[in-house]
Amino acid sequence: MNDAALPFDPEMLDRLAEVTVRVGLNLQPGQDLLMTADLETLPLARRIAAAAYKAGARLVTPLFADEDMIVARYEHAPDESFDAAPGWLYEGMAKAFEGNTARLAIKGDNPMMLASQDPAKVARAGKAGSIAAKPAMEPITTFAINWSIVAYPGLGWARQVFPGLPDEEAVARLADAIFEASRVKTPDPVAAWAEHNAALRARREWLNEMCFDALHYTGPGTDFTLGLAQGHEWKGGSSVSKNGVTCNPNIPTEEVFTTPHAQRADGTLRATKPLAHQGSLIEDIEVRFEGGKIVEARASRGEDVFLKLIDTDEGARRLGEVALVPHGSPISQSGVLFYNTLFDENAASHVALGQCYSDCFTDPGQSAESLAAAGGNSSLIHVDWMIGSNRIDIDGLDADGNRTPVMRAGEWAHSL
Ligand code: ZN
Ligand code: ZN
Repeated sequence: MNDAALPFDPEMLDRLAEVTVRVGLNLQPGQDLLMTADLETLPLARRIAAAAYKAGARLVTPLFADEDMIVARYEHAPDESFDAAPGWLYEGMAKAFEGNTARLAIKGDNPMMLASQDPAKVARAGKAGSIAAKPAMEPITTFAINWSIVAYPGLGWARQVFPGLPDEEAVARLADAIFEASRVKTPDPVAAWAEHNAALRARREWLNEMCFDALHYTGPGTDFTLGLAQGHEWKGGSSVSKNGVTCNPNIPTEEVFTTPHAQRADGTLRATKPLAHQGSLIEDIEVRFEGGKIVEARASRGEDVFLKLIDTDEGARRLGEVALVPHGSPISQSGVLFYNTLFDENAASHVALGQCYSDCFTDPGQSAESLAAAGGNSSLIHVDWMIGSNRIDIDGLDADGNRTPVMRAGEWAHSL
């Protein structure tokens, strides 16, 4: 696609490429970059490659996926295909990260592209993919290298988010929402990101000072106490990777987040937004936790998908992330359901089932055993779902049960 065919200002893509390289990745001179992207994101991918080389990148290696080819597999591949995954590719990626290659994902595909495919096949393929991808995922979850995810307004995605609009208008609307949330509509996006990172830092520093033992959530359908892992550390905004590079792993981002205790979650919890997972929409999730584990789960739609998801492995019924996002965040105020975690998780406070980030500890270098002993969860999955709204109150609890308001009606209880 050439620039003239884009239904939005291509200057915004130049700025987004700049933000991706300078803020998202903070790519270092001489560093290699591995980029995965959907074919449809080419106008942005090409700009990012150019910006990366201008920043001194040694080698940019792109890996593209195509929606039609993904769907073709579900329609024509033999049954054994759905337990297969290219392990050799992930091992190669892991090797690249060992050599300090930075990692970027550009998301622009239709998150619901597999909606009409057999959920059992989708789940099998997802599981096989997660197992095979483990060596390539670990350097990401442990922040061994600088990495980032950015978004591009693909047509299939835009049609899903704005059904009923003409294609051009749907893409233009999605583009506008992405550019707004990614802070590239301001004349100096890099400065805007510095300011935003400072505000997130103030929030996470307050939470780290308070050093809560647990959080208590109350709201419609929710009365939930979540213990925090021993030695947990709140993160948010920019993050220092183990290779010493400060990066912004998500563009956009509005969350401060940490690791909950995998054995300490009790009570009822109701999702406040639908969850789009591997092409299925899961609505009105309601779960009950006991001793950190989901013991009852239902959903008004996609319940079978949700039940399969939490049966992936032992850790899939436990939590690996807790994140706070004010209801007034720009993505929340846009009122748009993006069907894409990168955006939807930044519209509301959320938790994630599955794998924790070992980086969210005061000692990020501890062994897997000591991580588990501190309450860090491990699983093949990491799936965020939204539990925040303007009807949720959150208190912080200290070890004696004393309460400090953290959020009221979905907003921070204190201004900093
Ligand atoms: Zn999150
Ligand atoms: Zn997450």
